[in-house]
Amino acid sequence: MTGSCPKHMVLGPCGGVRADGGCEVVSDPCVFPVPAQWAGSSVPPVPLQAVPLILTDFSSEPYSVRLAALAASIGISAAVPETPAAPPRRLRAFRLAQKQRAGAAVAVLNHDSVASVTGFMADAERAGVTIPVIASVAVFTDEPSAAALSGLPGLELDPEAVRRVLDDPDPVAAGLAAAAREARALLGIPGVVGLNISGAASARGYEFAAQVKAELAARIREERDHDVPAARS
Ligand code: SF4
Repeated sequence: MTGSCPKHMVLGPCGGVRADGGCEVVSDPCVFPVPAQWAGSSVPPVPLQAVPLILTDFSSEPYSVRLAALAASIGISAAVPETPAAPPRRLRAFRLAQKQRAGAAVAVLNHDSVASVTGFMADAERAGVTIPVIASVAVFTDEPSAAALSGLPGLELDPEAVRRVLDDPDPVAAGLAAAAREARALLGIPGVVGLNISGAASARGYEFAAQVKAELAARIREERDHDVPAARS
């Protein structure tokens, strides 16, 4: 590593590397052209009692790989993020393998296209990743909620899919339908065992946004409950 990371990361790169390799905080290249390796001994993960089908996020301070190792060493199941869309893309699965070595019990992916997550999961299998992976579904039903997601480094929304939702006479219904389709496709990727319902969802207030996410979660559960008996018969 040359230079210093403005987030003081030791085991970078973080998920905010811009598409041109630039740092998300300062106007310099990211100081981690390749992911740092976990140099400590392997820490056995503390298995989860159950892998959640649905997860939603609460933003907090960014932490590093070392916190996962510390948590696992004292018996706490550690969840770690990874960003398939951020450079260096082909090494992101390798980076997740480092986090697994450090004791991570479950991974949550930042949002990316279904095709990209499929490629990432194939890379992850080759890199030896065996922990459960939760993929993110982007939920937007209006211009502000779509713009907030699109503006984040390391997060890619299909502009045509966004346009179709926003141009629909009922963008809330269209946004829910698009998110449900994406959820179905993501759960079909080998190794993806759950979903993080992500994004602001709506600019019409927290309560309405929470209702949108709850409605999506209910649809995903309904589909899952409907599919399980059908798959067994
Ligand atoms: S992009 Fe690279 S240099 Fe910038 S904060 Fe993230 S890890 Fe640090």
